[in-house]
Amino acid sequence: MMNAGEKRLLRNKKAREKYAKDRLNPEWVENRRRIHKKSYTNRSPERVEERKRYYKQQYMDNAEKLKQYQIEYRKRKKQDPEWVKREAILSKERGNNTRLRRRARKQYVVDLLGGKCVICGYNRNLNAIDLHEIEKRFPPEPSQYLKNMRGYEMILDNLEVLIPLCKNCHAELHSGQPLPAEFNKLLADFTSDHEVDEP
Ligand SMILES: [Zn+2]
Ligand SMILES: [Zn+2]
Repeated sequence: MMNAGEKRLLRNKKAREKYAKDRLNPEWVENRRRIHKKSYTNRSPERVEERKRYYKQQYMDNAEKLKQYQIEYRKRKKQDPEWVKREAILSKERGNNTRLRRRARKQYVVDLLGGKCVICGYNRNLNAIDLHEIEKRFPPEPSQYLKNMRGYEMILDNLEVLIPLCKNCHAELHSGQPLPAEFNKLLADFTSDHEVDEP
């Protein structure tokens, strides 16, 4: 009994063998080249727009069918205990990788900003450090933007509005009660230092 991975490998192998045989036939090659030329070489904006519209329409027409197909596919797959087991492991690995990547990005950003809470100097655990915004540019909160490359680049482009604060100091800052004067001075100093660093 083959599992899904082995089946896929076999299918790929068969496809490769077929291609190796087909490409010896000049007629087949010519035909393939003609099809490719038609779809790939015409890159005028109108053509690109047209293709985009076409694919979107195709998707819209089949959205309901596609959804139904996905539901049934998963239902079918869930009857295979081996698949369920593998999928659980894979999803866990994926989750771990995402978390690690996000953490590494956060570490990098916090290090760029001094590596510690600006008010009390706390730097023991990265999870307890928040990025506070002077000006709201990352709703709902900046850490959400570390999930993907696009957001990460946005964060790196807007470092001047971010201040690393530990959870305690951050909560105090947002509590609405006036902060001690020396805290305000530390924050102001940090912000102005940062502006000087900017090119
Ligand atoms: Zn603090
Ligand atoms: Zn804040």
